[in-house]
Amino acid sequence: MSAIDTLPPLRQVIADHGLSARKALGQNFLLDLNLTAKIARQAGDLATCDVLEIGPGPGGLTRGLLAEGARHVLAIEKDSRCIPALEEVAAAYPGRLQVINGDALEIDPLAHLTPPIRVAANLPYNIGTELLVRWLTPKDWPPFWQSLTLMFQREVAERIVAAPGSKAYGRLAILAQWRASARIVMSLPPGAFTPPPKVSSAVVHLEALPEPRYPADAATLSRVVAAAFNQRRKMLRAALKGLAPDIEDRLIAAGIAPTERAEQVELEQFCALARALKPA
Ligand code: SAM
Repeated sequence: MSAIDTLPPLRQVIADHGLSARKALGQNFLLDLNLTAKIARQAGDLATCDVLEIGPGPGGLTRGLLAEGARHVLAIEKDSRCIPALEEVAAAYPGRLQVINGDALEIDPLAHLTPPIRVAANLPYNIGTELLVRWLTPKDWPPFWQSLTLMFQREVAERIVAAPGSKAYGRLAILAQWRASARIVMSLPPGAFTPPPKVSSAVVHLEALPEPRYPADAATLSRVVAAAFNQRRKMLRAALKGLAPDIEDRLIAAGIAPTERAEQVELEQFCALARALKPA
C-alpha cells in the first residue's frame, strides 16, 4: 500500500478537522486526488527538487506533489485549522514534508529549502498576483525558483501568457515573458473546486530562463511598462512623457512609432526603449 492510500479521503479530512471554507482566505479546495496528481505532474521532475507550496489547505495538492516523488515539500499555510490535517500527510511521508503555519507574504522560504526549487500552488486568489510579481522581480536573476506551476483565475492566467494586440496584454505579460517561458497547461471549471468559485481557473507553468530574452535594466523596463500600460489608450509619446523630455527621440531610437499604443508594442521593443533610456 502506498503512503497516499493510508490517508483518509479529503472530504473526510475536511469533516474531521472542521475545515469549512473561508472566503477571506481564498479557500476553494481541490478534493479530487487524480486532479491534484495531474497538476503535480505539470510541475516537472520533482524527484531532484525541493518544492515550495503556498496555501496547502487540507493537503490535496500536497499529497499529489509527494506521490509524484517530490524530494522535499515546504508547505506554508495561514489557516491554523489546516495544520493537524497537514501533519497527518507529513506522517505518511516521513521526513519529506515540512509545514509552516504562517503568512506566505512574510515568510522567507529560502531559509528552509535547498535548490533546485520548484514552486507549485493552488494559490489564494487574493495574494496570487502579488506573489507572482515578487517571484518575477527578484534582486538578482536567475531567481531562487526553477519553475512556477500556479493556479490562477482564468482571466489572470490569460494576462500572464498574453501576446501583443490583445486586451489581456500588459505589465504582467511583459514581466512574465521577459525572463521566463509561460504557458497555460490546464483549464479547470468552477465545479472542480469545493466550494466552486464564480469564475473558471487555469494552471500556468513558468520556467525561468537563465538570461533575459533581451537585455534591459530591470527597474527601467518596469517603469516604462508601468507608465505605458497605465494609460494604455494613449499614444506612447503622451503616456511616457514623464520619463524623459525627449521621449519621442528615444521611442524612435528604439524603433517604436511615437503614435503607437502600448498594446501593440512587442516585448523586444519595450526592452529596446528601456535601453534607450538607460543602457543595460
Ligand atoms: N491547496 C489547497 C487545495 O488545492 O485544495 C487549498 C487552495 S485554496 C485556493 C488557498 C489556500 O491558501 C487556503 O488553504 C488558504 O487558507 C491559504 N492562504 C490564504 N492566504 C494565505 C497566506 N497569506 N499565506 C499562506 N496561505 C494562505
